[in-house]
Amino acid sequence: MSIQQNLTEIKYQLPAHVTLVAVSKTKPVSDLMEAYNAGQRVFGENYVQELVEKHAALPKDIEWHFIGHLQSRKVKLIAPFVSLIHGVDSFKLLQEINKQAKKHNRVIDCLLQIHIAEEETKFGLDEEELNHILTSDDFKSLENIKIVGLMGMATFTENQNQIEKEFSHLKTIYDKLKTQNSELKTLSMGMSGDYQLAISCGSTMVRIGSSIFGNRNYQ
Ligand SMILES: *Cc1c(COP(=O)(O)O)cnc(C)c1O
Repeated sequence: MSIQQNLTEIKYQLPAHVTLVAVSKTKPVSDLMEAYNAGQRVFGENYVQELVEKHAALPKDIEWHFIGHLQSRKVKLIAPFVSLIHGVDSFKLLQEINKQAKKHNRVIDCLLQIHIAEEETKFGLDEEELNHILTSDDFKSLENIKIVGLMGMATFTENQNQIEKEFSHLKTIYDKLKTQNSELKTLSMGMSGDYQLAISCGSTMVRIGSSIFGNRNYQ
């Protein structure tokens, strides 16, 4: 099926309150343009250099999300234009995003990444670290970032019960936080293999790559 057909099919399944981020990492600009021409305006990338190049090459009404693991020293490259940074998992990184956003007179929306998977390798904060950041005075002084929600990735497994448990865990943390911060509006969870489950567990934003663009080719 074509990119346009894949997009149509996925969008048909998404409830109105769920935002689709088209994850286009490793894919050529022509593929992104095909999605753009089918109406897609929100794209997610994992690598800073690739994001910078695609931003320069593509129409300016695209909303670019950074969804990978962001290194502090690279924040300055995306700060002028990025719409949402999904995977923020340290206070140090938040401080750097704040500093770079300030230089451009912007407020950058961020999602804090929560570690919900079993694998040690997946990045993210636990609930205690999350609360520690959010209640610190240093955090309250950051005026050029805004925490708009949370993001998480489930364990890479066939076990649907486990994935559901992990997504529900994240939803519980999100709901608890929402009672303290009414500005939260985004719960980013769900990828090609698990987005339906994520939506049933309360996701408001899904990050879908291979089901739109086909399998990735890493050289
Ligand atoms: C690559 C990636 C995705 C998309 O994965 P698919 O399985 O291709 O849909 C979503 N989220 C993150 C953080 C990713 O790195």
